[in-house]
Amino acid sequence: MSQPLIVPGFVNAHVHPDKTSFGSTWLHRKPAHSLKDLISNDLETQLAYADSVETRMGALVQDAIASGVTAMRAHVDFGPQIGLKNIHGAAAVAEKYKEMIDIQIVAFPQFGLLSNPGAVDLLEAALGEGAQLVGGIDPEGLEQDLHGHLDVVFGLAEKYGRRADIHVHDTGEVGYREIQEIARRTQALGMNGQVTIGHAFALADAPSAELERTLDAVAEAGIWIATCALGSDPVPDLDLLAKHGVNVDLGTDGVRDAWSPFGTASMMDRAHLLAYRTNAITDEQLERCLDIATIEGAKMMGIDRVLNPVQGDGAYFEAEHRAQLVVDRPAAYQVVRGGVQIAANGRLS
Ligand SMILES: [Zn+2]
Repeated sequence: MSQPLIVPGFVNAHVHPDKTSFGSTWLHRKPAHSLKDLISNDLETQLAYADSVETRMGALVQDAIASGVTAMRAHVDFGPQIGLKNIHGAAAVAEKYKEMIDIQIVAFPQFGLLSNPGAVDLLEAALGEGAQLVGGIDPEGLEQDLHGHLDVVFGLAEKYGRRADIHVHDTGEVGYREIQEIARRTQALGMNGQVTIGHAFALADAPSAELERTLDAVAEAGIWIATCALGSDPVPDLDLLAKHGVNVDLGTDGVRDAWSPFGTASMMDRAHLLAYRTNAITDEQLERCLDIATIEGAKMMGIDRVLNPVQGDGAYFEAEHRAQLVVDRPAAYQVVRGGVQIAANGRLS
């Protein structure tokens, strides 16, 4: 064999493992015409699953580890509709695989927070029952209460000393307002580097002075942007974000759930999609996507081990060049965590 090509462990910085149908029977999906449709299809699907969160998420996590993923930030649903069972299930999976993968759990108010009576109390309870981070979703677009929603999210983050990771799908003026307010509160609480915004589709809007102002606010607050290169969803211009000093990480978002039949546990696949969606041509552009899928995600999650692929976390490939990996997507023949082999040839050790 030629010299192995070793890359840092992959980091899935934004995933919804509790919703996945992975490791279960084929899921027949219904059409959706709006975000509200998608959310109600999701709830209906979750309530109908025959297999537990532990079974489905466990299957996804095993596949992820075998493909070289050594850290994952999981957005896990809670709400009066389902209680905290997904949080408990995800925490059990995180515990079971803790020697192989770091799983951080965000309590994610998928079915609403202020607009969903009982959800605020459950969010606080979730932080004591397995979730490490406070989640949020479209404070204005979905919840119609920008400040009320963020009062809860940042209030709990401050009260319990937790990080926050907030979904913002809104574009245009609403999206800018939400992102700028998140940046303002992050600065005010001294939470620089501890807040992530998922999707942030507004940052992929057409160039404007307001977009530039928003990017500067994000950079100054040290906010991480988690992009997922999903279907036809907007992906921000990586050059523009880099120019403003905005940090970017990468996730899969949902994998084979009610929202989409697509997705795999592999972050190599996702790096490929990011490269494809951002029209990567040069080695530098392709390698940037690999970095975003590995070391940038690790920095976001605060896992230094990933930064050293030999003594820390790494995935071993037979390939000529890092840039080529992103195009060819070969399977890792070995995965190490903390310098110890945890998977080889697609199987956990
Ligand atoms: Zn998401």
